[in-house]
Amino acid sequence: PFDVLVVGGGPAGASAAIYAARKGIRTGVVAERFGGQILDTAAIENFISVKHTEGPKLAAGLEEHVKDYNVDIMNLQRAKRLEKKDLIEIELENGAVLKSKSVILATGARWRNIGVQGEAEFRNKGVAYCPHCDGPLFEGKDVAVVGGGNSGVEAAIDLAGITNHVTVLEFGAELKADSVLQERLNSLPNVTILTNAQTTEITGTDKVNGISYIDRSTGEEHHIALAGVFVQIGLVPNTDWLGDTIERNRAGEIIVDKRGATNVPGVFAAGDCSDSAFKQIIISMGTGATASLSAFDYLVRHQSE
Ligand code: FAD
Repeated sequence: PFDVLVVGGGPAGASAAIYAARKGIRTGVVAERFGGQILDTAAIENFISVKHTEGPKLAAGLEEHVKDYNVDIMNLQRAKRLEKKDLIEIELENGAVLKSKSVILATGARWRNIGVQGEAEFRNKGVAYCPHCDGPLFEGKDVAVVGGGNSGVEAAIDLAGITNHVTVLEFGAELKADSVLQERLNSLPNVTILTNAQTTEITGTDKVNGISYIDRSTGEEHHIALAGVFVQIGLVPNTDWLGDTIERNRAGEIIVDKRGATNVPGVFAAGDCSDSAFKQIIISMGTGATASLSAFDYLVRHQSE
């Protein structure tokens, strides 16, 4: 069996694997797609000490670093079940069952898409999902935020400080964000809030040049010229496959303590699949390291059992 089996090969999983392997223990990584979300990312400018890099380049760096150690990488494999017996079992979609003394869940998350024309086509060409990451790329320009929940309104407040103008499009009749956030948003001079606004298309040529929406109260279609669209209608953790075995919050995020431990002894979690307060590369790597050191600590304490 493995001493540490990491499920997920994004920044959190790679960091966890390296920290485990450096303890000289038997380490494996199962990943559906090694690299994770950063494979879909263009510019990365907040990975501290690296002023600018690109997602695929960082992903290649992760893989190269992990391969420097004796880690058993099982890429293009999807985990479908976790069960705690004497050892922890991870069943893969191909039917194989992997056994390990400890497991680190690092399956990440995915942004919910609006599913309109132009969204996929202009991804990283004006369509963005992370204001902390891509906000500065739109300095002085006009942007829209789709979604009027907490994350959408937080994004709009953040972007209002960087960009020229922000339009918030909320599908429902009113914003759903906490009232303190709504008050702050309402106080900003360069923000327009549109409710009952159903986004129908993100337009552009080689990059985004506008957004079309239907005003659901009148049925009229409108178009706004702008340079960027931030989609903020939810981040979905890749945790459905865990069912009830691992405790999750209402958003589906795995609940961890400050050591990265879940409710099941020997099972830890890190990165975007966990209930960490913020979802970023540097945070995923940090929590991956935490979970890995905790798993090692767990193994030391349970060696004799
Ligand atoms: P992920 O990167 O999501 O990796 C999850 C891993 O688990 C993948 O290998 C996946 O294939 C695997 N997996 C999932 N389910 C299973 C399963 N059942 N079995 C096996 N493997 C599974 N952050 C920044 O800090 N700066 C940025 O500039 C930035 N820009 C971004 C731009 C875009 C377009 C996106 C989408 C995100 C961006 N982020 C950025 C966020 C950042 O990418 C994430 O916070 C980070 O990748 C999370 O790392 P993770 O390892 O927790 O999860």
